[in-house]
Amino acid sequence: MKPEKTTRQQADESSIEGRFKELNLPFNDREALLESNRCLYCYDAPCIVACPTHIDIPTFIRKISSGNVKGSAKTILESNLLGATCSRVCPVQELCEGACVLNEDHKPINIGRLQRHAMDFADKNKLNFFQRGNPNGLRVAIVGAGPAGLSCAGELAKLGFEVICFEKRPLSGGLDTYGIVVFREPVEISLKEVQMIEELGVDMRNGVEIGKDLLLSDLVEDYDAVLISIGLGKVPNLSIAGEDKEGVFDGLEFIEQTKVKDLKTIKCGSKVVVIGGGNTAIDCATIARRLGAPDVTIVYRRSQFEMPAYEFECEFALKEGVRIQFLTNPVEVEGKDKVEKLKCARVELGPPDLSGRRTPRVIADSLFDIPCDMVIKAIGQEKPYDLLSELKKFGVQEQNGYIVVDPKTNGTSNPKIFAAGDCIRHKGEALTVVAVQDGKIAAASIAKMLLPSKTNGKKTQPPGTR
Ligand SMILES: Cc1cc2nc3c(=O)[nH]c(=O)nc-3n(C[C@H](O)[C@H](O)[C@H](O)COP(=O)(O)OP(=O)(O)OC[C@H]3O[C@@H](n4cnc5c(N)ncnc54)[C@H](O)[C@@H]3O)c2cc1C
Ligand code: SF4
Repeated sequence: MKPEKTTRQQADESSIEGRFKELNLPFNDREALLESNRCLYCYDAPCIVACPTHIDIPTFIRKISSGNVKGSAKTILESNLLGATCSRVCPVQELCEGACVLNEDHKPINIGRLQRHAMDFADKNKLNFFQRGNPNGLRVAIVGAGPAGLSCAGELAKLGFEVICFEKRPLSGGLDTYGIVVFREPVEISLKEVQMIEELGVDMRNGVEIGKDLLLSDLVEDYDAVLISIGLGKVPNLSIAGEDKEGVFDGLEFIEQTKVKDLKTIKCGSKVVVIGGGNTAIDCATIARRLGAPDVTIVYRRSQFEMPAYEFECEFALKEGVRIQFLTNPVEVEGKDKVEKLKCARVELGPPDLSGRRTPRVIADSLFDIPCDMVIKAIGQEKPYDLLSELKKFGVQEQNGYIVVDPKTNGTSNPKIFAAGDCIRHKGEALTVVAVQDGKIAAASIAKMLLPSKTNGKKTQPPGTR
């Protein structure tokens, strides 16, 4: 049984708005019913284990199949308050769907689309499942209102904590709001999740940067616990000549424009080079194509085998007409006043480095030019060094620019300070769903530490924070 012919809609090429519409199709009721009935409701279901937030997937699917879509949405949100975002942005092939027992000879259950079906139903019917818990008199400060901060805030509010989120940007949601391409997740989805967290009683203070507008020491003094969920920073410099020329862009800023600005006002070159090999590079390149650039090339210094972007993302970029130039190292951005070409060198791969990937080595006398009028840097994100040096004063340890936590509790070496999300992710993949789980773990640990234990009426500390 095939419940759908295609999962992606053709972009409406006639207008720029059409090209930036959400790409993945939702199920209609009948398709959702048919697909949910394929699920085997496995005992010890591997899909639950593979989901970082451990959503009870068979149960939410069973509820859809029995017509209880409202109950299905509740099951999802009980484990993951950002279920609507995750249903759109999770790399399900690598997570729940990749683990589905129907993988071998049958198509895996389309878990992501079923989750979206339940989340869209909750949104359409304005369903609210949770309320703020009875006030317990304890206050928690959260620094950064991305997925990690929001998830922790929501869970704590349900337990009756007074939660204040300090967010430096005008809008909350972190990269879900500002970073994930709009044709994968429209901004409204992220903002509705922020609103849901606010409706739980969380006090969102936007435009407040900790370390600048308020000091970390104020928070540590005034609150019972502090969560650091600041993510990472902007794209680092390439450290090559000419990168300050007009026409060179930070990839994250480039993506952000398409989320917050009128698409018609965004300037894009006609010959665009994107530097990087991760999913952000793919996103920048596909955005440039959809903004109308006829010639878009990704330049990556290793081979396809080492490329960190998902295979399905690379395939998507190629289908969109993006060229990928492997084994190529940018050397200099050239041009009189603004970008005219990117000088590059050809590369060969040597032995593996510490990350296990083979080291790129420049081949002598191999320089060549790629003519372009726009260069987009998409080579990762900077570490939040400013706040890290503040945190050090409170005994919080860092390693290579990431905050060190006990993974069981997300507690730092200061018992009052917890951390979650990309800022602790020194290994493993940085994903929204992982940040959500980090926030949940931190919330549970904060509650365990601060709420009187049922047995002896004393405050307890979770392991690893003593
Ligand atoms: C371009 C791009 C595309 C991505 N696409 C996907 C995807 O498709 N699927 C997926 O699962 N993941 C994706 N990710 C990864 C995902 O977005 C992150 O893993 C996730 O957002 C991490 O959440 P976080 O809360 O740790 O950090 P962030 O989302 O970065 O949020 C941190 C927040 O803290 C705020 N902040 C920082 N410093 C301060 C301060 N001093 N004071 C106050 N506020 C502060 C920031 O403004 C921000 O709002 C993508 C990432 C990028 C960069
Ligand atoms: S593994 Fe697949 S078939 Fe089994 S419960 Fe999960 S989604 Fe259903």
